[in-house]
Parts: sequence; structure tokens; C-alpha cells
Amino acid sequence: RQLIAKEDPRFLQPRPPVVTILGHVDHGKTTLLDAIRHTNVAAGEAGGITQHIGAYQVEHKGRLITFLDTPGHAAFTAMRSRGAQGADIVVLVVAANDGVMPQTREAIAHARAARVPIIVALNKIDRPDANPDFTKRQLAEVGLVPDEWGGNTIVVPVSAKLKQGIEDLLEAILLVSDSLDIKANPNGQVFGTVIEAKIDRARGVVATLLVYNGTLEAGDIVVAGTAYGRIRAMFDFRGRKLRKAGPSTPVQVMGLNEVPDAGELFRVYANEREARQVVEERLLQRQQRRQALPKASLEDLFSKVQAGETQELRLIIKADVQGSLEPIISSLNDLSKESEIRINILHAETGNVSESDVMLASASHAIILGFNVQADHAARRLAESEGVSIRLYDVIYRLTEDIEKALKGMLEPMEKEVTIGKGTVLAVFHISKVGNVAGCRVLQGEFRRGARVRIRRKGEIVYEGEFASLKHEKDDVREVRAGMECGAGFKGFDDIQVGDEIECYIIERKTA
Ligand code: GDP
Repeated sequence: RQLIAKEDPRFLQPRPPVVTILGHVDHGKTTLLDAIRHTNVAAGEAGGITQHIGAYQVEHKGRLITFLDTPGHAAFTAMRSRGAQGADIVVLVVAANDGVMPQTREAIAHARAARVPIIVALNKIDRPDANPDFTKRQLAEVGLVPDEWGGNTIVVPVSAKLKQGIEDLLEAILLVSDSLDIKANPNGQVFGTVIEAKIDRARGVVATLLVYNGTLEAGDIVVAGTAYGRIRAMFDFRGRKLRKAGPSTPVQVMGLNEVPDAGELFRVYANEREARQVVEERLLQRQQRRQALPKASLEDLFSKVQAGETQELRLIIKADVQGSLEPIISSLNDLSKESEIRINILHAETGNVSESDVMLASASHAIILGFNVQADHAARRLAESEGVSIRLYDVIYRLTEDIEKALKGMLEPMEKEVTIGKGTVLAVFHISKVGNVAGCRVLQGEFRRGARVRIRRKGEIVYEGEFASLKHEKDDVREVRAGMECGAGFKGFDDIQVGDEIECYIIERKTA
């Protein structure tokens, strides 16, 4: 992230605000995005044919507004997890006939964590069962007090379906935008984020980029994550060819060598050689990360808290029922008062731990605590790849006790490494088509197939992984006990040497 230079304030100029639309499913996000596009894109352009490229711009009173055209917070959090803010303003769509719902609350949590102001679009006011007052009361309860009631949240009644209230919404966006410092240097370093990307049969990799700073030009060399290339052609959301794109402009570009991830930051480099070098370094880093020890991120975070590197412990809490959330939150708040470290509960909700919770945790460097809930499979997988810690409990007291211990720096890791055997390499045999196999003697405990293996040479770790094979005499075996000899191969490791020390261990999960 340090790739991005700080711009000299003297060169900053106002740029269009970038707006994302969040809200509960079926509350009308897609319909609203379409309504805004159709009322205001292409004023003066017959037909106004636009393409879905993940973002578009509209004009209101001669000023541009950029909308991210992927409703829902996936795009927003993907950007945030990579260090970008995601958007300048969140429009929260709340259906007036349905009120504040779980994903409404989730969206609020996302916007707050990103410190992005919220404008409420009170949608579906055309419906006979719409109850705007009731919905506003609910909004006030979750901290979005309407300005007409003395609060500072603008609530704009709209009907996305009938295209009513759209102008008022755009007006509100510009109003909020004016109160923020939305600026960039159009002549500065060129960077931004990837909104979406795909492979097109005819055109190759097609990516939508949103420029944050500088001016992107056709012919520029771009790096996004590990994708790079020279921009062969550039189009706006109307499909018109562009030569230049300044701050807040979404553009579709062709010429990258692979599909970058949505949310990835991109940057322009001076030449192809430099770009390739950056990408090669990243590929190497990625490989090293894969080989690195599995990290206990919760413990990492706690140790950071302990080391004074952060003064805040951010939590996301999921519980089975509202009745258990309340006591958890109030006891955590009590703990927070007693401690110098602030406990910041970013989001508390009933329900299982979902991918969305993990995204929020990842983007906000938070930990997820679950009470009487589970983490679904996708959430676990994502948590693993994002290095997010999920801790599940079935006794409230244990949960609060863990946090208390953590604040005092005494937490035992949830996952513990248990050594089950040690041994040494006596000889190395080269077996054709298989590679090098170590002739070992087990000195303590046992070697077990499926367990983890660490190899040390003169005290230094040279390998972390698993047995590829384990044989006693000529037979494949499941385990080899102390005092016995065995032949062992290691997955992805051929550089075994006589005298290497082998440690065999398992990861034990403590259940709270
Ligand atoms: P999303 O899931 O939030 O993207 O919601 P959609 O935009 O797909 O809308 C869900 C449903 O609500 C669709 O059937 C829409 O036609 C309907 N809808 C959206 N906006 C309005 C509105 O302002 N009034 C009415 N009556 N229906 C709406």
C-alpha cells in the first residue's frame, strides 16, 4: 500500500464523489441504480445506451457523481480489505414497507467501520404498505437519526420503481459531498482500484478500473496485484473510446495479462520492465507467504494490543439469539471501561458467522467471536485465506474471560502445537522418479503420516510440511515408533541432508 504517494495539498482539485449503494436484499438497490442511470446518464444523448462495467457516472446540475454499479457490500469490502476506502458516500437503501433488516444493520456496520457517511434512500414509498415514520424511528434506533428530527442523517424518500425522488437523492449526495474533502491531483501519481474484471473471448482480459488519483491514459503500463500490461484500449461506460481518464472516472481497459481480483489496487509504472519487476516480487512474496508458518492471527492481534501497537481491540460478535447478544455486549463494555484498551464492537448480530462477517473483519482488522453459532464452510475458508480469527464459544463467561485474559496478555492460543515425535536423518537415498528420501531414526515419540513435519538444520528451520511417504523396511506404514528406523519423503522438499533434525507435530484445537 505504500506504493501510493501522498499528494501535495496544493495540487489537489475537487473530484466527483464515488457512491456505493448498500442495503438489505430486495429493498431495491438494483432498481435504484437503474433508475439513477436512466434518469441522468446521457442527458442529451439519444438512447442513452450504457453498458454494465461495474460503475457509471451521472450528471446533476453540471456536476458528476460516480456510482459503483455492483450493489451489495462485496465490492466495497473487497476494496477496503486491500487498503482502499471503497467509496466516499454510502447510499443505504431501506424499503419503507420492510424497515431496518439484518443486512441493513450489516451495511451500517460496514460504512461506519470505513468512516464513510451514510445517506438513507427510503425506498418503495409508492407502496400502500409503506410506513416511512416507523422506518425512520427504526433508523433512529440504530443511530441514523433523520435530520428533520434533529439528527444528521439525510433521509430521502424515493420510489426507485416509479423513478421518484431521484433528483433529491442526487442533490443530497452533492450536499454531503461538499461537506467532505473529496479531492485528488489529476496530474499526480496514477492509481485506483479494480472494480471488476473478466476474460472476454474476443478482447482478452477486460477490467474496469476506477481512477482515484492522476490521469490514466491509453498506452500506460498498469500493475494490479500480479496482473500487468500496457493499456491497449480504454472505454467509458457508454462504450465510447477514451484517451484519458481523470480522478473518479471508471474505465474499461484492455491489455492486462491476467484477470486481477476485484478490489485490487492498481498503479501506473514508467515502463514494462519496472512493472514486471514489481509483479515478480509479488509472486515471490505470495509463494513465501504460502510456505510460512500458519499464523494465529488472534494471538497476533492481542500481542499487538499488548505491545501498544494498537489501542483498540475490534470485535464482530455473532450469537444465536438477541437475548445472548445483549449480556455479551454489556460485559465487554464493562471490560473496556476497566482497561486502557478500547473494545470496539464493529458489528453485533444474530446468526452464523458468514463470509460477509469475515470480509468486514478482514477489512477492519477485527476478530470474530461467535456464541452458540457456527461458521459456515465458505466463511471458514475465507477466514483462513484472509488470516481472520474466528473464535466460537458456548458459554458466555468463557468468551468474556478470554477477552479479559487477552487484554491482560495471558491468552492461551486456541490452537496449540503438540510435538509427537523427534528424529534425525542418518542417510539420504535418491530414488528415481520419487526424489530424495531420508533414512531416519525416530528418537522420541513417533512419526505419523498425516502429521505436520518440521525440519531443522543447525537449528534453523529449512522445511515445514508433511510426509509424502513413510516406510518401515519396504512397507508403507502409518506410524514409526521411537527406536525404529524409517524411510521418509517430504512433500515438495528434496533438499534433505544427513544430520537434519525432524520434528513431527500435530495442531490441537482447544474448544472453548
Ligand atoms: P435489491 O435486491 O436490493 O437489488 O432489490 P431489487 O432492485 O432487485 O428490487 C427488489 C424488488 O423490489 C423488485 O421486484 C423491484 O421491482 C421492487 N422494487 C424496487 N424498488 C421499488 C419501489 O420503489 N417501489 C416498489 N413498489 N417496488 C420496488
